[in-house]
Amino acid sequence: MNHQPFEDWIFEAKLTHDEEKQLHKHLATCQDCSRLRQAMKGMERTFSSPVHAGPKAGFAMRWQKMAVEREDDNQQSAAWYMVAGLVVLMTSLVYLNFGANWFANFNIMTFLVQRTVNVIQTVGSLFSTVTSLVNAFQTIPGQVVFVVALVLGAISFFWIVLWFSAMRRIFAAQRKAI
Ligand SMILES: [Zn+2]
Repeated sequence: MNHQPFEDWIFEAKLTHDEEKQLHKHLATCQDCSRLRQAMKGMERTFSSPVHAGPKAGFAMRWQKMAVEREDDNQQSAAWYMVAGLVVLMTSLVYLNFGANWFANFNIMTFLVQRTVNVIQTVGSLFSTVTSLVNAFQTIPGQVVFVVALVLGAISFFWIVLWFSAMRRIFAAQRKAI
């Protein structure tokens, strides 16, 4: 199925009445695009809710408050998929070795949502890969696996912290710009 221009429209802030009608028609028949839009809505809620108004409240409390305010279960789970997807994304970025320059001139919202949807869709096929990997790992001595896991974990943690601080700076800059 051809997903254009609908894929672009999902990220558009303002559509004409006619475009809106066409988009709704397409979403009703296209699972890919409606999933993408759901993730986008969850993302919007996650980052545009009163979260930023109360920076002193704890992260868990803010999440709870948002969850209560959210009446739509689908959008709530989409937001959680976002968080899970972000973690997967961050870890994969470690191994792709992206630099800090990467953040400049980049539509981060579009990239994050599309990437997350892709991740969710590929998780299924990953499971079979993981199963065969586990079988392969069983032939490697336990100590070697432990040391490698420790090193990878440390590197991942470093990059996740780096990523979060970069995200915070980006969103702070965006808020200032608005
Ligand atoms: Zn579509």
